[in-house]
Amino acid sequence: MKKYIVALDEGTTSCRAIVFDNEQNIVGLAQSEFQQHFPKPGWVEHDPVEIYSTQYGVMTEAILRSGVDISDIAGIGITNQRETTVVWEKKTGKPIYNAIVWQCRRSVDIARELVKKIPAETIQKKTGLLPDAYYSATKLRWILDNVEGAQERAEKGGLLFGTIDSWLIWKLTNGAAHVTDATNAARTMMYNIHDMKWDQDILKALNIPECMLPEVRGCSEIYGYVNISGVEVPIAGAAGDQQSALFGQACFEPGEVKNTYGTGCFMLMNTGKEAPLSSNGLATTIAVKLGDEVQYCLEGSVFIGGAIIQWIRDELGLIRESSDSEYFATKCKDTGGVYIVPAFTGLGAPYWDMDARGAIYGLTRGTGRNELIRASLESIAYQSTDVLRAMKADTGLEIAGLRVDGGASANNFLMQFQANIANVSVKRPKILETTAMGAAYLAGLATGVWDSKEVIRESRVINRVFEPAMEADERERLYAGWKDCIERTKSGR
Ligand code: ADP
Repeated sequence: MKKYIVALDEGTTSCRAIVFDNEQNIVGLAQSEFQQHFPKPGWVEHDPVEIYSTQYGVMTEAILRSGVDISDIAGIGITNQRETTVVWEKKTGKPIYNAIVWQCRRSVDIARELVKKIPAETIQKKTGLLPDAYYSATKLRWILDNVEGAQERAEKGGLLFGTIDSWLIWKLTNGAAHVTDATNAARTMMYNIHDMKWDQDILKALNIPECMLPEVRGCSEIYGYVNISGVEVPIAGAAGDQQSALFGQACFEPGEVKNTYGTGCFMLMNTGKEAPLSSNGLATTIAVKLGDEVQYCLEGSVFIGGAIIQWIRDELGLIRESSDSEYFATKCKDTGGVYIVPAFTGLGAPYWDMDARGAIYGLTRGTGRNELIRASLESIAYQSTDVLRAMKADTGLEIAGLRVDGGASANNFLMQFQANIANVSVKRPKILETTAMGAAYLAGLATGVWDSKEVIRESRVINRVFEPAMEADERERLYAGWKDCIERTKSGR
């Protein structure tokens, strides 16, 4: 019985590969960074060839380090930075341009033109997304416009498009499979998440030849085989990074939410068979497709999450290490009425005020370092609560617990305050590599390593549960104070 799964986790700055055994333990890991290219202000590119070779390198390294026999590997799962766009030659596999990264703003004008042809609300209804240069569609249009002869070559079938999952699967299978999974397709802004088809109106408005798009498949099935040292290993799972983390946190039921506390925070809520449109500026997207069954989710993010801790560390010099924040925050009993609103780049969901800027409120002569540090951590929890409340409002669903991961989820003070202020139980798993874990689950389900989602859920190991421990009055008083500070931070006042 084959019992190992290799997860390939292709992120924005590095490629990782993790070998898991069938008890969800990590038995091998390798990671390597790749280069970021910033050809102009606001432009971000990666070299797809470097991504492939780096990913291949860490895959073989992780397998070798694990000591696992390749013939004992049941399958490979892939998870990746989403939206990032690659176009390559069908015949040679050579990219015709660098990958345009999700962060890149170069196609803003194309997005603006698109909404003149198809209203933003219509695009949101079809794709779940509010039109933006962030998604793949306008990046693809930019490549077709700016690489000589590309449009014509694409129309004749000579060029292929893919997000990074698609590119890696094509390369790893030696060109045998030009596919993507439904979660990655859902982030291109060309995919109709209700019809589960490439959207003809959007393709037409952007003049994108359908023949260059990958076939859209489920997240847990065999797409093709990779030859590793003479052994044919199936690629059996794929999902975009955030959806993979949602699955990796075993958020299989409507109302289950995961939040990743990194530089920013990424929150996703499983909404089951429903795909509710948000009135709070959240994205509706595909959570997972297993066989013919599709689950949807709402997605929202906090721009400045752990970054506020970096700021008090690097700019204010209040702490030496991010993790020191926990010690100082617990040295005072509260912030004494101090709130920090870290709107460094504007206010995101559910406020959407890009001109707002950060502020500190409630300073008194007694405010000290401990209070400021505590208020910084609390700001992460308040902002996450705002997104959580928006999700609740958009769906009418009760929050069935919050599962957490990411660097700052290690902070026990922050997690307890999060439980208190959102009034939800917060679960932190033992393995914080939830993104890779999700891809592993998907590939393991397709290859019989795990029989069912239930088996996975039951065998997960939780590191700690933080239960709400704050009186309702106190919670409402603190949260009302936060909302008041948000109002005072908004631009145009
Ligand atoms: P990313 O994937 O966005 O680079 P990580 O998941 O590695 O982020 O988390 C790093 C972020 O978390 C940084 O902003 C850092 O300041 C913050 N962080 C890390 N450890 C802690 C901690 N113990 N307490 C608070 N913040 C932390």
